[in-house]
Amino acid sequence: MYPIGRYNLNFDLCAAVLNGVLLLSLLLRKNTRSKKVRIFAAALLMMLVTSLCEFGTGALQNLGVQYPDTALEILTAGAHLSFILVEFFIALYLMILTGRIHGLKGRYLFLFCLPEIILILFIAGTALQKGFLSYDILGIPGWTLLKILYLVMMGFYAVYCLVLLFRYRRVVRQEFIYVISFSSGFLVSLALEIVLPYMRAALFVQSMFMICCFLFLGSGEEMQEPETGLYSRYALRREIELLYGTGYSSYVLAVKLQGMEHYSAILGSDILSRVMLQIGNWLRSLYQMNVSVFRVGTGEFAIVMYNASEKSARELAERIRRRFGGLWNCSDTEVAIPAQVWLTSVPDRAKTPEQLFVFATATYNSNLPLEEVYVADEMKNETRKLAVERAIRRALDNQAFDVYYQPIYDTKSGRIHSAEALVRLTDSELGAIPPDEFIPIAEKTGTVSHIGEIVFEKVCRFLAEQRPERYGLQFVEVNLSTVQCMDLGIVERMKAIADMYNISPQRINLEITETAVVYSEITMKRVMRLFQEAGFGFSLDDFGTGNSNYSYLLKYPFRLIKIDKSFLWACENNQNNQVIFDNMLHLIRDLHLQAVVEGVETKRQREDLISRGVDYLQGYYYSKPLPEDGFMFYLRHFDF
Ligand code: C2E
Ligand code: CA
Ligand code: CA
Repeated sequence: MYPIGRYNLNFDLCAAVLNGVLLLSLLLRKNTRSKKVRIFAAALLMMLVTSLCEFGTGALQNLGVQYPDTALEILTAGAHLSFILVEFFIALYLMILTGRIHGLKGRYLFLFCLPEIILILFIAGTALQKGFLSYDILGIPGWTLLKILYLVMMGFYAVYCLVLLFRYRRVVRQEFIYVISFSSGFLVSLALEIVLPYMRAALFVQSMFMICCFLFLGSGEEMQEPETGLYSRYALRREIELLYGTGYSSYVLAVKLQGMEHYSAILGSDILSRVMLQIGNWLRSLYQMNVSVFRVGTGEFAIVMYNASEKSARELAERIRRRFGGLWNCSDTEVAIPAQVWLTSVPDRAKTPEQLFVFATATYNSNLPLEEVYVADEMKNETRKLAVERAIRRALDNQAFDVYYQPIYDTKSGRIHSAEALVRLTDSELGAIPPDEFIPIAEKTGTVSHIGEIVFEKVCRFLAEQRPERYGLQFVEVNLSTVQCMDLGIVERMKAIADMYNISPQRINLEITETAVVYSEITMKRVMRLFQEAGFGFSLDDFGTGNSNYSYLLKYPFRLIKIDKSFLWACENNQNNQVIFDNMLHLIRDLHLQAVVEGVETKRQREDLISRGVDYLQGYYYSKPLPEDGFMFYLRHFDF
């Protein structure tokens, strides 16, 4: 026990030195710009002031000499003021760690600060009204109302910190153990101060816990991108976890610079580096309490707007887009670097952290608009599309496309008379991807022609090697995409492939959809004439889905009209559709064309269609599309 009336100053002195050294080393670090580090530095500074003031008051009293009362008052008030600020900053620090800081607005901000304001007013009042209140609150013997109020207000932040930590323990993860020990250490030290006021070990205990936090903060280098000083890609990863952990609705803008690889060749890395610094500085000027900027790739930036409105996000996106429409000047050169601005929201549009990360780090996409802010309405779609695009590339490299055959039944002869070739793609990462999904993507990215030729070659090889005509198969239907038909060179290439396998084009029927015919009549007519001259025949695919303009039946040389499965299914229990269906069949017959009905799944459908005089049937009732061997087996054993 320390004698009453004599304060032990050693702990305060140690605490002052400890905090001073910590603060200095923190300030000497490069990345003091981050909010987290700044708030922590503020807490350390306040801790330092507290220890110095405490040391001062103790020293004055211990000296036993005459000293002006005001000196003691000022020091005591200083100690209390700075100490309550330590607590306040620690609470703020925790708010940043848990992401709660972004909810701190309006009423909540006021409520959060209220105990702090009361304490400050209280201490300031104490200091001013000497004699009315005693400034050394904890020194007052007994439990006065004042003392209780003071402790309750102080306790508010300590308890708040603990509650926050427990609630967000999954978000805070490793920090949890550090901060929890700090918060409990804080409570312990407070109790110590009340029970043993002359020992004055509280500040030292707290400083020790501060060291724990400090050590945990790490060097922080990985959080900062060296060239621009913005937050790094790694920092974004951590921030994304917080975004999804807190449940606020936030917005993320992604800025993607065009053609970075060319710029470094044109400008040289030195100038480019300076331009990037300029861009970084401009983006940094957007920093606010609820906005952080990250550099996540050479030419990719991400701007996170926490707890923001769609309106403010769009405004900021627009401002950025306009700035990138202008020039960046750097040592007498002016450079224009076009950039795309994308916008998404968490958790509405970007549903998972992984999707958001892909969104933020994807590079410039030449298929997306430059003139307007691109909003990723369905991030899932976008991410999936990119993944499918990659799968298509992989399949083209590895020759991984397969062709399956679905039999087509001839109702007159009761035999399988043809088959439709259907492409299949099974990717090592995504598994089986349906053609309805990847063909439209391949059409957009320009790979569909290549895929079409692979399919065509496989069909020719199949005909040459397996000779299915032995079992009555007259021809194979091959689907042609609209995009393929717009290229006149296709006829020659396909003819060459057929010749290579010694396959007569008459054994191939090309399926063309109505959309292709509508797309460009002139080109379509030319391509079809060339195909016809080479000996190929045609089917009109998906009839009954689009406009079903009957004039096409006359204008183009179709041999078969394929009525889409959706149309057949729409006839079930629908009298009107059945009437249209019957008329369609009559018309086809009257024009001396033949109809194939797709999507026949049941015996009832089959009988019904046969009774209506349909020529050919295709569907799961007969067989699903089969691989080569399976299809040959089916042909050999077909018996209906
Ligand atoms: P499509 O040309 O209308 O092909 C018929 C689709 O209907 C095939 O789907 C087939 O498996 C499916 N089908 C046939 N009978 C039934 C049935 O009874 N019930 C049900 N539920 N479905 C049935 P698949 O193979 O998924 O192909 C989808 C689409 O992808 C095709 O529609 C075609 O537009 C396109 N496609 C497939 N292969 C190729 C290709 O090699 N080139 C091009 N350009 N497009 C292709
Ligand atoms: Ca087809
Ligand atoms: Ca079809």
